[in-house]
Amino acid sequence: MTLYDVVIVGAGPGGVACAIKASEKGLKYLVLEKGKSLFQGIIDSYPRGKRVYPTIPKSEPGPFPIEDLMPDSNNDPVEEYLIKIETCVRKHRIRVNLNEEFLDIKREQGEFNVITRQSRYRTRNIVLAFGSNIPVELGVYGEAKTVARKLDNPAEHIGAPTLVLGGGNAAADVAATLSKAKRAADDHTPVYWGHKKEHFKVDKEVARDLGEEILLGGNIKILPAVVPKIGEVDKDGVERLLVQTQNVQLGQGVELQQGMSFPMKHVIACIGTQGPSPLFDRLSIQQITCTEGICKIGKEGARLILLRPPYQTSIRGIYAVGGAISPAYIEIEEQGSFKERKHSNLIFTAVRDAVEAVEHIAASSDQ
Ligand SMILES: Cc1cc2nc3c(=O)[nH]c(=O)nc-3n(C[C@H](O)[C@H](O)[C@H](O)COP(=O)(O)OP(=O)(O)OC[C@H]3O[C@@H](n4cnc5c(N)ncnc54)[C@H](O)[C@@H]3O)c2cc1C
Repeated sequence: MTLYDVVIVGAGPGGVACAIKASEKGLKYLVLEKGKSLFQGIIDSYPRGKRVYPTIPKSEPGPFPIEDLMPDSNNDPVEEYLIKIETCVRKHRIRVNLNEEFLDIKREQGEFNVITRQSRYRTRNIVLAFGSNIPVELGVYGEAKTVARKLDNPAEHIGAPTLVLGGGNAAADVAATLSKAKRAADDHTPVYWGHKKEHFKVDKEVARDLGEEILLGGNIKILPAVVPKIGEVDKDGVERLLVQTQNVQLGQGVELQQGMSFPMKHVIACIGTQGPSPLFDRLSIQQITCTEGICKIGKEGARLILLRPPYQTSIRGIYAVGGAISPAYIEIEEQGSFKERKHSNLIFTAVRDAVEAVEHIAASSDQ
């Protein structure tokens, strides 16, 4: 199995900058991106037509460390920025595995094993460039865990009952859009909209659109207090999600449970995102909990990652850059003291961090 100098997790501005720098330094590298495109994080989170600013924080000297990744100074819309990125990716022949979700790291005899949903990779160093929007996990038992996080193609759900999970605007919007697509196709199969709490929480405009869809004949069935329980593979090899729809206490520890099971390919979980802190915990990367007096930028109770310059985590050989370490981190200074550092979540900072981290990796591997 190939031994990489560096495996880069995430193909946003930070990950792509790492790849460009690694290639320039002659390092053997691979980028792993869970989405189907490079810059998937930006594709998913920027509204259509949003102008992209090449902001450099006042405290930073600039210029933009890799010009090919710099948003245009005319603040062009995101669609044009993504075209520029495509050209940049072709020019630098970025080696990336798309649709490959990073799951875990194992340390073995002075090197790392990076584990993804499909495979594992040997590497000397890792750069975590997975941004700040880590999906909240479904939290189910069992081997089947992969569900869609957004509605990519409504046509894939025509003719099949679909479960949309989540109690907020994103889930309501997906339920209404899907129902509309089913109506247009004269498909009467239901859209189940489930939430683990009793009450759903959506904005007025979203509620109005959803109400209109129901009045127009949309077959939306609302399931409050639905709890995802088990992700299983059935006897035909189909991945299914079992959700509990009712739980009645019969006394003396006995419960009457009712549930429904959906093929995972017809489940869309709009259950939000969280910062990467739980993931850092799972990887045993050290963080500090902010308390009054310690942090000025981080809110009380927030967990800030501990980093040694340049962006090396508490585990030697693992670096964290970009959105993943925003809005602040704790720097371990040379004398061993700690200092809270502000870290703006910007394309510039992700690219700058990446360049510094990979330069450090290259210098360390020369020794
Ligand atoms: C609406 C909006 C507008 C913004 N506007 C601007 C702007 O105008 N100018 C500016 O400078 N900044 C802007 N930002 C901030 C900027 O987009 C971020 O700072 C930047 O994208 C961070 O880059 P990154 O590479 O660290 O993370 P991301 O861009 O989030 O990239 C992370 C990548 O990692 C992938 N990933 C995540 N988890 C995994 C996993 N487990 N396995 C494999 N891959 C994974 C994601 O799919 C994603 O492609 C904006 C942000 C938002 C949300």
